Amino acid sequence: MNKKVSVILPAYNESGNITVIAKRLDEVFASLPYDHELLFIDDGSSDHTMEILQAMHKDDPKLHYIELSRNFGHQNALKAGLDLADGDCIISMDCDLQHPPELIKDLLEKWEEGYEIVYTRRGDDPNLSDYKRKMSKLFYSMMNRMSDINLEPGTADFRLIDRKVATIFQNFSETEPFIRGLIKWLGFKQYGINYKPDSRFAGKSSYSTKKMFRLALQGITSFSIRPLYTAVYLGFIFSFLSILYVPYVIYSFYTGHEVVGWASVIMTIVFFGGLQLIILGIIGIYIGKLFIQSKKRPNYIIRSTSLNNN
Ligand code: UDP
Ligand code: MG
Repeated sequence: MNKKVSVILPAYNESGNITVIAKRLDEVFASLPYDHELLFIDDGSSDHTMEILQAMHKDDPKLHYIELSRNFGHQNALKAGLDLADGDCIISMDCDLQHPPELIKDLLEKWEEGYEIVYTRRGDDPNLSDYKRKMSKLFYSMMNRMSDINLEPGTADFRLIDRKVATIFQNFSETEPFIRGLIKWLGFKQYGINYKPDSRFAGKSSYSTKKMFRLALQGITSFSIRPLYTAVYLGFIFSFLSILYVPYVIYSFYTGHEVVGWASVIMTIVFFGGLQLIILGIIGIYIGKLFIQSKKRPNYIIRSTSLNNN
């Protein structure tokens, strides 16, 4: 019997893309000696994504869908797919055709060589705006400096994972999972492949600056408590600086110009006010995480699915 490959594709308002990507994927698998299953996760789309998926499932019973009860976000939609797909390996990719389906052949080759995780590294995208490229670079350098895992730039959620890894991953119940970080953290034999991204086929990106910033903060605070240490370090630095200030105060007292210095007092108040707010904010994020995690709510809720194991 052939090995089975599950391809999971989170879709949020992708009605213009899903038929095209399904066709491209079927073409790729036609020449490969594997059984395959396409599993779309409708992440609470407000367009016709769901109706199209239902019609596609009728035509091709090997194509499946999971409909989430609302928009849970890309990472949670991916988690749903990883939890429910039952292939011998699982490939996750975007359904806007930015991840070239033809690369799947290379992913599978490396898997057959014994790598349990085959991830991809996005090359420079000529279509990407300068802004998005800079933000992406900044994200990876911040992430690596502030946390204990080392993410390579351009590793998005286009990867193959072995059944073994998927089973372990099912037991993770982290709220707001940052999947590319978790996968890196898992270890196993990993291999990276470079690719040149295509441009989005239809529709527009739903990762706004706000969502990107959120993902970055989530990534950093999920993997590290290092930002909390900044408070301690800054505390030490400023205590030291203030000790240097003491001789000046004493000198001023004896020479009689201790009243001047209003400007410096205000500056200090404003500066430390800001610093305290930032640090309180960082601590707040961690407490928020504890709060949300302690409620143990599920990552996603399924409204309907064509998979019969549910
Ligand atoms: N996506 C999702 N839920 C969301 C936002 C996006 O499932 O809330 C899906 C989307 O349909 C696509 C993938 O995640 O398949 C990547 O999203 P997008 O193309 O908007 O991001 P970008 O490629 O610009 O980073
Ligand atoms: Mg995209």
